[in-house]
Amino acid sequence: MIGPLDPFGRSINYLRISVTDRCNLRCIYCMPPEGVPQMSHSEILSYEEIRTVVQAAAELGINKIRLTGGEPLVRAELPKLIKMLSRIEGIQELSMTTNGTLLKNNTLALRQAGLSRVNVSLDTLKPDRFRYITRLGRLKDVLEGISAAKEAGFDPVKINTVVMRGINDDEILDFARMTYEEGCHVRFIETMPFKGVADFVPSTELRQHIGLLGKLDPCTSITGNGPAVYYRLAGAKGTIGFINPLTEPSFCSRCNRMRLTPDGRLRPCLLGEDEIDLKTPLRNNASMEELKRLILKAIASKPEHHHLEAGNVRLVKRKMSQIGG
Ligand code: SAM
Repeated sequence: MIGPLDPFGRSINYLRISVTDRCNLRCIYCMPPEGVPQMSHSEILSYEEIRTVVQAAAELGINKIRLTGGEPLVRAELPKLIKMLSRIEGIQELSMTTNGTLLKNNTLALRQAGLSRVNVSLDTLKPDRFRYITRLGRLKDVLEGISAAKEAGFDPVKINTVVMRGINDDEILDFARMTYEEGCHVRFIETMPFKGVADFVPSTELRQHIGLLGKLDPCTSITGNGPAVYYRLAGAKGTIGFINPLTEPSFCSRCNRMRLTPDGRLRPCLLGEDEIDLKTPLRNNASMEELKRLILKAIASKPEHHHLEAGNVRLVKRKMSQIGG
């Protein structure tokens, strides 16, 4: 079953759910040092409400769900939600994006609950720099989390690296070398200028640089749900992906996703301001048919492109942590 088509013929089969706006890190490109005003518990969707949304989405043909945040693992009893979602008919893949700091002691519970895949965000392999970029975290915790995830059987574990000029662009080869290891896939993301804090590095430049290690062959054997374009270094077990929201003209043409914010709003585009409120109808006992109608309305309002080229990204009112990156 394919997901519903948007007005530009894209099949929308993927929903990213931000389960909390809270995060235990304050990454320089994502949040101000003091954090952002937190939503109250009553503002954010309960697990039962999230389940109802996913149920409606699944009935429409959405079959892939990713949990994100904020930091999903700071929300209490996350495995409980995973178990609830994994039982919904039609959901074929249930994955999570995490900063990895709390992963180590949770991998088994997550796996047993039905989580299929984990992506870990990691922008540096240097402890001091990690503290600088995240303002609060310890690199050791993330590396142990990645190892624990692999041991628990998550495969692949993908590492997402936001590349910032002058901050971590000297570590590209170190990250690329990690793909020689079993089951390690690295994806480089162009920094989106939410806060204008760091310059992005175009992926063409990264590809050229990684070429110092060997030839990068296009790779089609790994597909994600997302917009990454994959390559493999000769002899490497893992792949190198590039996510190019800023420099790839066709980036949005492959968009297959919608986002659900912690406070229950569906966002057709990460970088647009449009949102459709699902929380109010949910709390007014809306029927499944009504929820499905609202989800289809959001899909019908997906823009053809984001507005990054227009240089007005800074007008996006929510922070990445409040949307769910
Ligand atoms: N806390 C989780 C994590 O760190 O993966 C999930 C939420 S985080 C907002 C999701 C992803 O968005 C991370 O990979 C993060 O690096 C990325 N991200 C945040 N701000 C970004 C920006 N300005 N440009 C590009 N990626 C960004």
